[in-house]
Amino acid sequence: MIRSPAILVDTTRCTGCEECVDACKQVNDLGADRLRPGQEGVDGLSSTRFTTILRRPGDHFVKQQCRHCLEPTCVSVCLVGAMQKTPEGPVIYDSDLCIGCRYCLTACPYGIPRYEWDESVPYVRKCTLCYPRLKEGKRPACVDACPHEALLFGTRDEMLREAHRRLKANPERYLPHVFGEKEVGGTSVLYLADISLGFLGWGGHLGDEPMPPLSWASLKKVPPVIVGMSTLMGGIYWVIRRRMQLAAKAAEGEIAAMEAGGAEGAGGPDEDTPAPDPVTSRPEGSDHE
Ligand code: SF4
Ligand code: SF4
Ligand code: SF4
Repeated sequence: MIRSPAILVDTTRCTGCEECVDACKQVNDLGADRLRPGQEGVDGLSSTRFTTILRRPGDHFVKQQCRHCLEPTCVSVCLVGAMQKTPEGPVIYDSDLCIGCRYCLTACPYGIPRYEWDESVPYVRKCTLCYPRLKEGKRPACVDACPHEALLFGTRDEMLREAHRRLKANPERYLPHVFGEKEVGGTSVLYLADISLGFLGWGGHLGDEPMPPLSWASLKKVPPVIVGMSTLMGGIYWVIRRRMQLAAKAAEGEIAAMEAGGAEGAGGPDEDTPAPDPVTSRPEGSDHE
């Protein structure tokens, strides 16, 4: 897998066809958008949309997704290491470690992570830069799917070189700026555009300094008792969620056993056998640990 992978989004080439959105949904098994009553379509990120196309007046279409910051604030504020910066560069999420504090949602300067509010066992959801595909030597699914070459993939150095080449070759086509080159320490999803991208979070307010040291400076000012309470509450939440997951798995196993027993006409389970402890018993091959 290449080191420091990056996507260059050339918004002047985007037609808003959403082939990239469909490919992302497919590769991440995200399912259909969940519309609220009266809602006709979804245009923002959601737990079922890791990427989306934002429409602006004058037929401007802009792909929204995690920027895979070089120094990600979401990672720096995560108390348990669920948000992780991989050695190669993409920023990924380990749901097994997450305690549900949602600090990452509030810390992200671009407002990217989403939470599965309507799930009984909710997770944080966001683009992974197709990390599993990259490890297989493939490109991100959205890049492969784009029929208009609005998305390019390569190393960050290559994408920066290509972005500056385009700016130089067609100065009348673009604003003279590579969005993401320097903001908050730089990102791995870079943008060229002919309109301001302030609505994506690229604003002068961000500055070029990485945010993690700032977020830690703020966190240090929070009284330890509050941090301790948050961690404690997060830990309780994690235990409850784990119990729910294991209980659900145990119930599934019992139903399957009863169905198998019924099919063989062998009667129900042995009543002398103690019921498995849903917290400590782990199904064979379980990946929860
Ligand atoms: S854009 Fe937000 S969620 Fe993505 S890596 Fe940066 S801080 Fe994290
Ligand atoms: S890189 Fe992968 S996960 Fe991210 S938006 Fe593209 S297809 Fe979706
Ligand atoms: S597939 Fe390409 S052209 Fe179509 S919406 Fe996505 S980025 Fe734009």
